[in-house]
This record gives sequence, C-alpha cells and structure tokens, in this order.
Amino acid sequence: MKSAYFDDTHAAFREEVRAFLAAEVLPHAAAWEERDTVPAHLWKLLGERGYLGLLHPRSVGGGERDLFTSVVFLEELGRIGYAGLRAAVSVHSYMATPYLTRMADRDLSQRYLASAVRGERLAALAITEPGAGTDLSGLGTTAVRDGDHFVVDGTKSMVSNGMTADFLIMAVRTGAPATGHGPRRTTGLSLLVVDTALPGVARSPRRTLGWRSAGTATITLDAVRVPADRLIGRLDNGFYYLMRGLQLERLTAATLALGGMEGTLEELRAHLRARKVAGEALARKQALVHRVADLATELAAARQLVHHTAWLYQEGELPAVECSMAKLHTTELACRLADTALQLHGSHGYLEDSYAARAQRDARAATIAAGPSEVMRDLIGQAVLT
Ligand SMILES: Cc1cc2nc3c(=O)[nH]c(=O)nc-3n(C[C@H](O)[C@H](O)[C@H](O)COP(=O)(O)OP(=O)(O)OC[C@H]3O[C@@H](n4cnc5c(N)ncnc54)[C@H](O)[C@@H]3O)c2cc1C
Repeated sequence: MKSAYFDDTHAAFREEVRAFLAAEVLPHAAAWEERDTVPAHLWKLLGERGYLGLLHPRSVGGGERDLFTSVVFLEELGRIGYAGLRAAVSVHSYMATPYLTRMADRDLSQRYLASAVRGERLAALAITEPGAGTDLSGLGTTAVRDGDHFVVDGTKSMVSNGMTADFLIMAVRTGAPATGHGPRRTTGLSLLVVDTALPGVARSPRRTLGWRSAGTATITLDAVRVPADRLIGRLDNGFYYLMRGLQLERLTAATLALGGMEGTLEELRAHLRARKVAGEALARKQALVHRVADLATELAAARQLVHHTAWLYQEGELPAVECSMAKLHTTELACRLADTALQLHGSHGYLEDSYAARAQRDARAATIAAGPSEVMRDLIGQAVLT
C-alpha cells in the first residue's frame, strides 16, 4: 500500500527483516521464553546485520539510517509476538544506548557504543527502584563523589536485560532534590554508565507475567566504585536527559505495540476463517465481524498517529504530547485486541502456551512500562488544558 512515510527501500528492508526473524528467531523464540533469555549468538547476528545500530552514528559502526527504517524494524519485531525478545532488543538499541549517542562525550560513547552496536556488549536502562518508578524525585540510589570515582549505593528493580547486560545506563542521585512540588523536585539526578562486572553489583532474576526472555532483574549496588568519567553529560542534569530519552522510549513502545497488533490481528483473522461452529466459519458471524471491524479501524487510526509522531520526531521536534498519545493509545488498544483474540479463541485461547494468551500477558505490561497510562493522560491533559 502507498504511504507518505515509507518508500521502496523501506519495503525491501521490511521483507529482509521479516525473513530474518522467520528464519533466526521464530523457530526458537518459545524456548528462549522458557529460559527467560535472549542467547548471545542472536545478539551477534543482530549486530552483524546492522539491526542494533540503525539509528546510531557511523563513527561507532551504526547505520545512521532514517527513523522510518527503525519504525520498520520495530514493527516487524513487534509483529512476531514475543514481547520479551522485543523488549530486550529495543531497550538495548532505543532506550539505553541512545543516551550515549546524544548526551555523552565522545570518549565515553566510543568506549561503549561500538561493541554495543556489534552485539558484543549489552545495555540495560536502570531507572526504576522498589520505592520509586513514576515519581523520579523519589529515586534513592546515591552516587557520592570520592576522588576520581563515584561510590554508588542502592537498588534498581524491573531492569529489562538486567540479567545479561554488560553495562547499565543508571539514574542516580548526585544532589538533594529541591523542596516543594513539581519538576524542580527532580533536580539532583545524574546518569552514569555502570559496568555490571564491577565489585558490589549483584543481580537476581525476576519472573514476570509476560515479556519472558527479557531477563528482568533486581540489581543491588553496594559501595560500587564507578570511575567519574562514566558520567553522562553534566552532573545533576539527569532528569532533563531522561525527559528527552523517554520520548524515543515511548515512541518505540508505541511502534512495538503497533507491530504486535498487526501480528495479533493476522492470527485472529486466520483463526476466525478456519474455525467452524455449527458448520459456519466464525468469520461469518456478524457479531464477531463487527468487533473485528471496530478493532481494525482503531488500529488503522493508531498506525497514522504513530507514523505521524515518528515523522515529527524525525523532523527534529520533540513531540512529547504525540509520543504520550501514541504510547497511550497503542498500548491500551493492544490490550483490548489481545483480550478479544483470547475470547474468540475460546477455551484453547486460555491455554498458557497459546498465541492469544501470550499476546494478552505481553500487551498488559506495555500500559505500565515506560510510563503508565495514567501518567500519559496527565501529560496529555495538561497540554490540552493549559
Ligand atoms: C515489563 C516491564 C519492564 C520494565 N522495564 C524497565 C527497565 O528496563 N528499566 C526501568 O528502569 N524500569 C522498567 N520498568 C518499570 C517501569 O518503567 C515502571 O513500572 C513505571 O515507570 C511505573 O513505576 P512503578 O512500577 O514504580 O509504579 P508506581 O510509580 O508505583 O505507580 C503505580 C501505579 O500507580 C498509578 N500512577 C502512577 N503515577 C500516577 C499519577 N501521576 N496519576 C495517577 N496514577 C498514577 C499507575 O497506575 C501506576 O501503574 C518496567 C516495567 C515493566 C512492567
């Protein structure tokens, strides 16, 4: 279909990525979910193909491709329907390492990015803590300067890729928060690159409802000495960097959700055409046809919102409101679509290893991760009403 956003190069790339995922990922994805990990050889393969550095600069081995090449990649990754795997890859390439591209100095980004783009060293993003997630002013992991090191103490939770990451992009408290309410309370935060091999770093695996194979971990830091040159950008500017990085994170989440819905709808369509009740395919029952028609229409609208937001982002704007809208709408729609898919698969959809059951538990996480729906509504509402 013709598109204002994609050209023939994107179409060819889509075919290439789809074939790669069908050959190298789909046959093994269920086993990786069982083991809650993405194997090292897949990271290497992704790196060799250039898929881990589509947006990264050529100076570190990236492809420096346009944003819609990444949109294609993320849609296809979403479409395969294993959200743990897509979380692992997208956290590495679109949520953690971009801080090194955009905010870190040249030495620091060279030190970590080249091997990350090759898939040899893995990244994770460690912001959330047991006591603070949406409320960044409550972050309690401290980094205290001691000579040419920071000494880091605290606990990070819900870290996707946490069990396998070689380094963490970590939000730490380097200064006291301002008193009172509002954004000033988030002063005193900084971003550090923390190698997971450093003494004092301990990680424990956490089993999640969905997103299996993302290797989710709780990570404790006990007097970890991090060289001071691992500070990303300027001291105490972490909140502003996060606010910028979170827009790409939300756009990425929306794009993955979009791809996931395409996959779920395809699977549902095949099921409704094949499954017969009283001699008639479910696809011929008007009550179901209308439900699918409504969902397909909402999906078409969601697709336009995501692509328009990506276009704004590519044009150099920071479309914070649209990123929130895209994230809110796609992730909530994905839940409704997955729920309908499960219902229309009947009892077989309720089996733990069914496509529909996996789609539902995977979709559920995305309305929380990268900022819950309530926070998206707050941001959108404030923009609309002020
Ligand atoms: C599968 C998964 C993977 C994740 N991966 C990572 C990762 O790699 N790195 C990382 O740092 N974090 C990660 N997270 C954490 C995620 O970013 C946080 O869960 C999210 O920011 C919410 O924080 P919280 O869980 O502490 O919830 P809280 O802040 O305790 O909020 C709890 C609930 O309260 C409601 N709420 C919160 N704020 C408001 C508000 N202002 N108004 C109204 N209601 C509100 C929402 O319903 C929210 O879900 C992941 C989460 C999930 C589910």
